[in-house]
Amino acid sequence: MTGPVWPEVYKKLGVSPVINAQSWVTALGGSIMRPEVLRAMDEAAGAYVDMMQLNRAAGEVVARSCGAEQGLVTAGCSAAQVLMVAACMTGQSEHNVEQLPDTTGMKDEVVLFKGQRNRYDKAFITAGATLVEYGTADSARPEDLDAAINDNTACVAYVIGPFIAPGIGLEETVRVAHARAVPVIVDAAAEVPPRANLTRFHKMGADMVAFSGGKGIGGPQSAGLLAGKADLMEAVVMNSLNLHSPIAGIGRPMKVSKENIVGLVTAIELFTDSDEGIEWDAWQSKALYVAGRLSGIDGVRVVIEDETNERQGPQPVLRFEDAYKGPSIAEIKEQLQSGDPAIFVGGAEARGEICIVMVDVRDGEEIIIADRMSDILRSGRVVAEKPNRP
Ligand SMILES: *Cc1c(COP(=O)(O)O)cnc(C)c1O
Repeated sequence: MTGPVWPEVYKKLGVSPVINAQSWVTALGGSIMRPEVLRAMDEAAGAYVDMMQLNRAAGEVVARSCGAEQGLVTAGCSAAQVLMVAACMTGQSEHNVEQLPDTTGMKDEVVLFKGQRNRYDKAFITAGATLVEYGTADSARPEDLDAAINDNTACVAYVIGPFIAPGIGLEETVRVAHARAVPVIVDAAAEVPPRANLTRFHKMGADMVAFSGGKGIGGPQSAGLLAGKADLMEAVVMNSLNLHSPIAGIGRPMKVSKENIVGLVTAIELFTDSDEGIEWDAWQSKALYVAGRLSGIDGVRVVIEDETNERQGPQPVLRFEDAYKGPSIAEIKEQLQSGDPAIFVGGAEARGEICIVMVDVRDGEEIIIADRMSDILRSGRVVAEKPNRP
């Protein structure tokens, strides 16, 4: 069976390529960079530069694309989360920058809606802050946020992502926080595309917003974009780029290489210049193909869902009814992952669904996915006989 190409560098290490129908997840390599991005990185690798100058220039590209006052290329969205909190705690005090992660004498609480707790929020406390939750797992009121803010509050954090509850919403969060003179920082790692989201959260009044560079933007996997208000962004720079100063900043382990900076800048420009309608249509046609191939199986309901259902692009979502006699969701995933090539799909037992995300599925791979899914779903759970092919 023809699968994805197997680059020699991976073959030498004994690492096989996989089909990624799970989205821009870190665990599967983020995204594939375009040839233009790789050429730019290759070129960047051929010269020494003053990294401060390069960071400042690249930051201007980030700021412009986000419609913000100042920007910076970071080592991913998580690194940006660390730096945002650090900046809110230290301000532009060299003494404070030097002192982190010891926060004595600084405001060091990060306020976050309980319903937005997630596996990435450790980055909010990495610089030495403490997380303070408000609301319940399901809901919150503006007065809950207001009550959680005190003299020790460094910032209010807000997380935007698929299936992450909005709570009181970003605009209301900004209103309440700003009334108490507290900045709002946003983790919007995987919220682009749509391209309009690059500027959207800044327009809503957020003080700093972070995106991954290696997800929908198609930059280096370990790069990210951070942009926001100039005074806070200058504090971010102090915490991360102590290149020509004796200060030891908390951001040193999160440096970005010249190749990654140039790669991300190139990816952003390609991303903002390209037509998202064309991109979306390609995902839709793969989704339609797979959905068509998986129709007519007893007890399997296949629906194409998209952004309106908090999905990343149009994708077939499979749900299972009583009439379904095939393998369980966990067994299906196990079989897909242990095949050759391994196929990773999204969805979970907890939500009772499998989703086949098309944003990282390369041309032709949708056929392999449909073949294998069809075989697995049409095979009986108990009877280990030949699958009855259509
Ligand atoms: C992916 C993700 C991150 C981490 O981003 P990196 O660029 O991989 O560091 C943080 N928060 C959310 C919600 C994410 O989806």
